[in-house]
Amino acid sequence: MGPVEAAAGGEAPAAEAPAAVLLDPVAALAELAPLGADPVRGGWSRHLFDDADREMRAWFVRTARSLGLDVEVDRNANQWATWRAGGAAAPAVATGSHLDSVPGGGPLDGPLGVVSGLAAVARLQAEGHRPDRPIRVANFAEEEGARFGVPCLGSQLLAGDLTAERVRALTDTAGATAADVLAGAGIDPARIGPDPDRLADLALYLELHVEQGRQLAPLGHPVGLATSILAHGRWRVTLTGRGDHAGATELDSRHDPMLVAAAAIRSARDRAVAAEPGTRSRATVGKLHAVPGGSNAIASEVTLWLDARAEHDADVRALVAAIIGDVEAASAAEGCGVVVVEESFSTRVEFDADLTDRVAAALAPRLGDVPRIPTGAGHDAGILAAHLPAAMLFVRNPDGVSHSPHEGASDQDIRAGVDALADALRALTSGGAA
Ligand SMILES: [Zn+2]
Repeated sequence: MGPVEAAAGGEAPAAEAPAAVLLDPVAALAELAPLGADPVRGGWSRHLFDDADREMRAWFVRTARSLGLDVEVDRNANQWATWRAGGAAAPAVATGSHLDSVPGGGPLDGPLGVVSGLAAVARLQAEGHRPDRPIRVANFAEEEGARFGVPCLGSQLLAGDLTAERVRALTDTAGATAADVLAGAGIDPARIGPDPDRLADLALYLELHVEQGRQLAPLGHPVGLATSILAHGRWRVTLTGRGDHAGATELDSRHDPMLVAAAAIRSARDRAVAAEPGTRSRATVGKLHAVPGGSNAIASEVTLWLDARAEHDADVRALVAAIIGDVEAASAAEGCGVVVVEESFSTRVEFDADLTDRVAAALAPRLGDVPRIPTGAGHDAGILAAHLPAAMLFVRNPDGVSHSPHEGASDQDIRAGVDALADALRALTSGGAA
């Protein structure tokens, strides 16, 4: 109840009633399960403003409103749900994650953080917590970059890490530009870009995410805290040759870019293995597109995407330079052409040590000494970390598999994650803590 309503009632204001809704994260995830289920790849495919993503975003609005939160969409297509209990005007304590997925991804990468954020708010409402500042839950747009090739699109635009011109011109595999797709969803493409006011209205960002990798299970802990994110980037490598007949063309007269692609894939593994173990280097070709793509035709062009990661920026640069050197040598030997475009590069991220310590202290009564682990996966929290205090909570993933339908966490651990997030948000919004 706000002060105006209380005055209009002419009576002493009653204590604010706890929300009638308690959001069970396991039930909420079950509710989302049919959305974007991919009958071809298996798992879930939810890409920026496709039907599944729109349904996920509608679920976010509905669920946030059912908790009495104010919902807005920012100029970069990110959704925000704010609990303004008490009307405090201080910058918000923010949490959340993303609702989009990789093609054929798992059920938790992204949605777990958004669902847990809303569930934690519902929990705090029900227990009568009065936050001393707003608590805000985010759904960041196109975190996986599955539609337009650039990860953390919404948070990078918000933070000013990408130019609006570049983003407007991005195209999806069907040839639609980001400008057209955004406009079709009611986002004015002329207004995308840095949003310093919105950023300044955030005191900190604490993202909860399913663990990617398997570090918590051997330690016997349901929840961990992130220390850092590996430096990482994506490169698009276009190999051109000469399309021809698979049967009629003599072997010594071929210019087959698929052979060069094979060398690139092999090199990615070999160069990563050969790098210093301390650099935690890894390189992957997970996507490849051949033109014309006939089983009885030598390809005229092959495009592949190289994902490379390592502890430090220079390690990634050295790894990619070595792989590209191998690709150029293989290309010269086959008489093919090579064009390499850097689609994204994210520098190494260190999460805020002070915020991480405060979250650890808030978790200690329930969970004891929570492990702190590095991660090889990129996150919106990593983008925001350059602009405001940011930290991450990970929920145990027993097999460590992610970006796959086999990704998982137990119901018990999912609920433990919400407990942890609620404990952290309560502590960060009590007594001027943020
Ligand atoms: Zn994610």
